[in-house]
Amino acid sequence: MISELDDLAFRETVFAWLRAAMLGRESFTRDDLKHFPFGGQMHRLVGPQTGIWHVKAVSDAAISIITSYIPDGAKRPYEDSVGEDRLLRYKWRGTNSQHADNISLRRAMERHLPLVWFTGVGYVPGTKTQLLRPEFPVWIVAEEPESQQFVVAVDEDALRIPVGASPEIAEIAIRYNERMVQVRHHQPLFRSRVIHAYEMRCAVCRLPFTKLLDAAHIKADSKGGLPRVSNGMALCKIHHGAFDSNIIGISPDYVVHVKESVLQTFDGPTLQHSIKEMDGESLRQIPNAKIDRPDRDLLAERFNEFEQAS
Ligand SMILES: [Zn+2]
Repeated sequence: MISELDDLAFRETVFAWLRAAMLGRESFTRDDLKHFPFGGQMHRLVGPQTGIWHVKAVSDAAISIITSYIPDGAKRPYEDSVGEDRLLRYKWRGTNSQHADNISLRRAMERHLPLVWFTGVGYVPGTKTQLLRPEFPVWIVAEEPESQQFVVAVDEDALRIPVGASPEIAEIAIRYNERMVQVRHHQPLFRSRVIHAYEMRCAVCRLPFTKLLDAAHIKADSKGGLPRVSNGMALCKIHHGAFDSNIIGISPDYVVHVKESVLQTFDGPTLQHSIKEMDGESLRQIPNAKIDRPDRDLLAERFNEFEQAS
């Protein structure tokens, strides 16, 4: 076991290692996280199967938690959810508060130690091996034993609602937390889920550079679009911009249409290859799972807008 200061240093080293690894990738399998070098030894950063993990040789406080990947439409095995204060919840392991895993998470809470939250965002193509997206640092800021769960903050300045707070103060905390959880947690997860469902390629041109891919909404969340993969498409920067500005439209039969006036324009190879040659082509990359494919009703609605704008 190491001192509290060394424990913090260990955690910072984990974050730096993950940050460096994420320059080239979005997600990890459990196996990828088996060999983290620290103090002359290799350590696992996640358990072989379970959700809460601590590195015995280094610290008795948890270093990571996992939320498994659940495809859209299926039931969640763990009900990690959002509380009235809009902060996220993480369920105990089982129902025994004294389970070693729950104790290790409680220690991280008591010592204000930051940890990594891995969330499943898809599968390795053609397998059932989960791909996990890390989020760090996160903090366990409270425990709700009556609900058998911990409160997780993805932001150091997360606001707990003080006991006896006026409705105005409570409202400020709720709004702040809602915004933080949306920006730091839900939006990145939507992006990762969509991009993984398209196997890290643009739906229109199959460009395979993750850094150049966006998760485009078919129906904007500002218009009530849900954060389901079937309301998204992985699009490269060019095709995302072209889709959002109605230079291209995608019909409910998954065919790309280019705006007529653009087809009449002649201006070099990028326009020619990236835009004009896509006219009449079917989407080249769609998700394997039917439930994740672009929702045809939402596409129809969106395609109407495209036709009216043309
Ligand atoms: Zn593209």
